[in-house]
Amino acid sequence: MKTGAIHIEDDELELYCLGRATSSELAPIERHLLNCPVCLNRAQAALEYIDTLRAALLRLESEMGCPADHTGLRRADPEAPGWLTRFPGE
Ligand SMILES: [Zn+2]
Repeated sequence: MKTGAIHIEDDELELYCLGRATSSELAPIERHLLNCPVCLNRAQAALEYIDTLRAALLRLESEMGCPADHTGLRRADPEAPGWLTRFPGE
């Protein structure tokens, strides 16, 4: 269904869902979402995906007690702010 309407770019939507959009990017995205159920759906799907992924990662972190001695190779605290920012494929 190509209507010629301009939708939010995947990249922008991803930044928005990850909370990484700058305030100047944020305004047009939110304005568009208010008027565009298509992109709203995409945003919701992306948010669910991110939530699922984050939950899976956290579960993995807590279940996977590594048997090897990784002294000096400790993972970053998953609760630490910014850990998710390393994450999405660039
Ligand atoms: Zn749209």
